[in-house]
Formats: sequence, structure tokens, C-alpha cells
Amino acid sequence: MSDIINILPDSVANQIAAGEVVDRPASAVKELLENAMDAGATRIDLILKDAGRTLIQVIDNGCGMSDKDARLCFERHATSKIHRADDLFAIRTMGFRGEALASIAAIAQVELRTRLHDAELGTLLTIEGSTITAQQPQVCPPGTSLAVKNLFFNVPARRNFLKKDSVELSHIEEIFRRITLVHCDIGFSLQHNGKTLYDLKPGSMLQRIAQLYADNYRQRLLPVEESTDIMRIKGFVGKPEYARRTRGEQYLFVNGRFIKHPALSSAVERAYADLLPERTYPSYFISLQVDPSRIDINIHPNKTEVRFVDDNAIYAILRSAVKKGLGQFTVGTELSFDTPPEFNIGPAPKGYVPQPPRISYNPDYNPFHASAAQASLDFQRPSSQRPSSPTLPPLPLDEAADLPPTPAPASTCLQLQGRYIATSLASGLALIDQQRAHERVLYDRLMRNLEAKQPHSQTLLFPVDCHFSAADADLLTELLPDLRECGFAIDPLGQCAFVVSATPNDLKESDLQPFLDQTLADYKGSTLQKFNNRTHSLCASLARQMAIRHGRILSQDEMQQLVADLFACPMADTTPSGRRIITIVKPEELLK
Ligand code: ADP
Ligand code: MG
Repeated sequence: MSDIINILPDSVANQIAAGEVVDRPASAVKELLENAMDAGATRIDLILKDAGRTLIQVIDNGCGMSDKDARLCFERHATSKIHRADDLFAIRTMGFRGEALASIAAIAQVELRTRLHDAELGTLLTIEGSTITAQQPQVCPPGTSLAVKNLFFNVPARRNFLKKDSVELSHIEEIFRRITLVHCDIGFSLQHNGKTLYDLKPGSMLQRIAQLYADNYRQRLLPVEESTDIMRIKGFVGKPEYARRTRGEQYLFVNGRFIKHPALSSAVERAYADLLPERTYPSYFISLQVDPSRIDINIHPNKTEVRFVDDNAIYAILRSAVKKGLGQFTVGTELSFDTPPEFNIGPAPKGYVPQPPRISYNPDYNPFHASAAQASLDFQRPSSQRPSSPTLPPLPLDEAADLPPTPAPASTCLQLQGRYIATSLASGLALIDQQRAHERVLYDRLMRNLEAKQPHSQTLLFPVDCHFSAADADLLTELLPDLRECGFAIDPLGQCAFVVSATPNDLKESDLQPFLDQTLADYKGSTLQKFNNRTHSLCASLARQMAIRHGRILSQDEMQQLVADLFACPMADTTPSGRRIITIVKPEELLK
């Protein structure tokens, strides 16, 4: 038999390697951003077209490359970051394998412009499918610009495997957050199809978080700091009341690198002990600095895994540091009603296990009695049939007709400041946040209807056209089946418009556009979690928006109905997003 083994040409080997390093635009973005950071850049701009499919360009003001290095950097195992095996145990750069650029150049058309700071001229080099197609001197600013065009142009299987732009973009945004959250001293920007999505100035981690998410994150977070012989910890953890239904906002970094480490994540979560409502997860942004010789990051090509020599000690230190951080947020025993911006009474004391409140009710009470029936206002009832009230629009607090009537508490309710309902329970005086209570009631009802596949839907007198940006229209298209399941009748109307002819509640026509805008914003806010249970997060968004507001004056019947509906919910203690609804002032506390 003749010889059958041959050595693969570099271009083929690179293309195979590329499969591991670059599986989608987001991983190319990660490699390029890391290279720019390794080059010591203080400003890095990321420019995308079509979610990276057509163009990924990273421009940095880092050290730049010589003419020769500009050619060499596309060779496999070409790296300036390690020289010998020993260096592997002292890695302080993001990259070190020398694979990324070789891989990217094998599956895209790449244009590199680079100039050393002390050189007069730079270099322009183009390479396509591992073949250098041109190199020439070029006038350009110091630093490097690397443009990756038409990713996977020669690998149709990969190209066809890519998801919609909205999905690929959300992967890129996640990578962008994982990098920018921890490199706060570097300025970053992200531009997509000509639109600037982020422009991040150098600053503190808290400023960075606020820029990436929202300004109100400053109030939601508590600082965590610790310094020991084996590591330093710096970061922020979310207050328990802002814990989420999904694990989206959990960021752990080791030596500037985002990592996934189930044991360390559980150390953080354990620190919350029972401060968290059931099945909710805290947000955290925690950066660890560990001696590089005490870790092994060389496990996975994407390098989100890491092994520590001092596993147990690191676990214990992290947990106690987070506990300490949470401890600074002490329990407020005083209740202040001086129009607080939030119903912030703080987490429960240590060891406190939230109990659903027990209701004392009058067994002789007849829910079908006229006054109770009147309180049961129906929010999907056509407006013409609604009992008219000259001063107050009816409150959407009803139970669906086919559900058993819930026992109404016998106690009188008192409304405080147009925000809280005070009522007496066996366990003490309950203070209930009316808006949050209603949010919980609506959420549970939406979920029940959804499970029964019987959404409530109210037909609009006149269908309403709503308009969106191209990206939002894309998202909305993705969400259509879920919106319909929740009771919307909504259909596309051309490229970026939709017509709505029914809604799950009696929304005013003029409120519809802001309502859908907010729903999309909430949805985007929970990117990447949407794959787990996006209908749940959609219901939570709808419930939050539909809930009665603070300031709404409630009648006695409405309050009693709301309290009864709330206590019929299995998780009456917290809103779907984990914010506290009820605080009980115990009889002993009242005595004081
Ligand atoms: P690695 O980062 O693992 O070394 P890469 O393939 O990502 O491998 O990059 C190869 C080499 O190219 C790097 O080691 C570095 O010397 C050089 N290089 C890549 N990107 C840049 C950049 N933006 N600025 C300066 N040098 C760069
Ligand atoms: Mg690299």
C-alpha cells in the first residue's frame, strides 16, 4: 500500500484551529479587544457592521507593530507574550497562545494598519484566507487598527450557522461588558451600523457599571473590598432586594479576565444566606487579583475557566468579604414615611426566614355579598360595562371569574401616603407596598393565564400603529409569539411598524407605544437570559407596567381586594423581580 499521510498546508490547519478560537463574531471581537489591551492601549474603539458579520474593526492607541511584526502576527504560534514554557506560569496578558490572528486571517478578509509610536510611517497589510495580498507603507496614527471583513467568507457552514443579527449583537455586547467592566481605566466605545451604543470614559468600576447599565445601579449596589496575602478583592454586589429571577448579572473576574467558576459563584450566593427571596439570584461584579503563579488559566481555548492552587481559602475569603459588604447595609428598624424614594426597609435580620403572612379572616364573611362583589372590578370587561365612578377609574384588581373567591381579610385597611396599605394580621401590623403588591398579583395572573393558554385580551376600538427602530423591530418580531400568548393581538405592518388590535389590559391607545418601548427595553436589559424563560420576564415587565402606581388613592374595598389577592399568591412576600412587598411590624415592636 502506498503512503497516505500528508501534512496539512498552514491555511487548512489555521482554518481548523479557527473553528476553536472563532466560532462567532463575538469571539473575534474578544480576541481583538484583548490584543488592544495587551498592547497597552488607553482608548479602544469597536466598530461593527451587521453584528460583526460584515465588519469588526478595533482601533487602539497601543504600542503598534513594526513592518515585520505586522506580517509575523498572522503566523500560527506567533506571539510576543511568552518566550519559554516557564512564562506560562507568570502570564499577565490576556493572550499568549499566538493563535487568534492566524485563525481570524484564515476565515476572513483582514486589513491591518499599524504604526509604532516612534516610527514616522506605519504599515498597511491585507490578508485573506491566510494569504497576504498586499503590504505597503501607510500614513496612519500610532497604534493599531484591525478590520475583519466578511467573517467566514470561505466557510459557508459556519456562516450559515450564525444567528440573527440581534442575537449575534447581544453576544458581542456580553463580551464587551465582560471586558469593559473590569478594565475601567481604559476608554471604550462600541458603534454598530453607524450608531454609537456605548461611549465609556475611563473611571471607577461603579461609574463603568452605571454607564453600561443605568445610573440607578449606583443605589442598587454595595461595595466589597478585601485584601489578604493570597488575593485582593474589589467590586460590588447587588442589594438583596434587587436580586433577579435569572443569573444574568453575575460577573467574576480574575486578574482582569472574566471567568466562570461555579464554586466561587456559589461562595458569593452563599454569603447572602437567606437574605434572598426563593429562586432569585444576586447581581455581582467582583474582581479578584491573585498571584498568576497560583492559578492555571490554560484549560480552555476560550479561557473562561480557571483553576486555583488555594481553592478552599479563596472560596472562604470571597464568601466572608461579600458577607461583610452586605453587612454594611444594616437592617433599618425604623420606618420612615417621609416620602422615601423607594420602599427600602432593608434586608431581614440574620436568620430570619421569610414566612408567608397568616391571614386572620372572618369565617362568616360572604364573598358574594353585594359590597364585595362590587369591589371585584374586572379589567378585561369592556369599558361600557364597567361600573362607573365619577372620580376614580376602576382598579384592575379582579380575580378571573373561574377562580375560587379568596378569603378577604376582615381587618380594615388604611392607606398611608398613597403608597402603603396598613392592615392588621395575626403576626402584627402589615405594611404593604400597593404598587408592588399589585405587580405580584398581575404577574401571577398572567402566568396562570399563560399556563392555561387562555390569555385575557381586550380588543381596541381602533387598532394602533406602533413604530420602532430597525433593531427594536427585529426584537419585537422575535417576541411576537410570546406577546400573543400574553394577550396582545399584534402583527407586522411593513419593515419597522406593527399594528396592535388587542391588549391584555385596558391600555389607553396613546400609552401603547411607550408600553411596548418599555417592554423591549426590559427585554434588552435581560439579554442572554431571554433564552431561559423569556415569557416569564415578559410577564414580569407587563405586570410591572400595568400595576397601579404610588399615589393612587384606593377605596376600602379596593384595598381589601388587593390584600386578599396578594395573600392568595404563593410568593406574596416579593415582586417577581425580588423586591419586598410586605413588612410586618411585630406586636412587641408596636409596644415599644
Ligand atoms: P496572542 O495575543 O496570543 O499573542 P494573537 O494572534 O492574538 O496572539 O496576536 C499575535 C501577536 O500580534 C501578539 O502577541 C502581539 O505581539 C501582536 N498584536 C496583535 N494585536 C496587536 C495590537 N492591537 N497591537 C499591537 N500588537 C498586536
Ligand atoms: Mg491575542
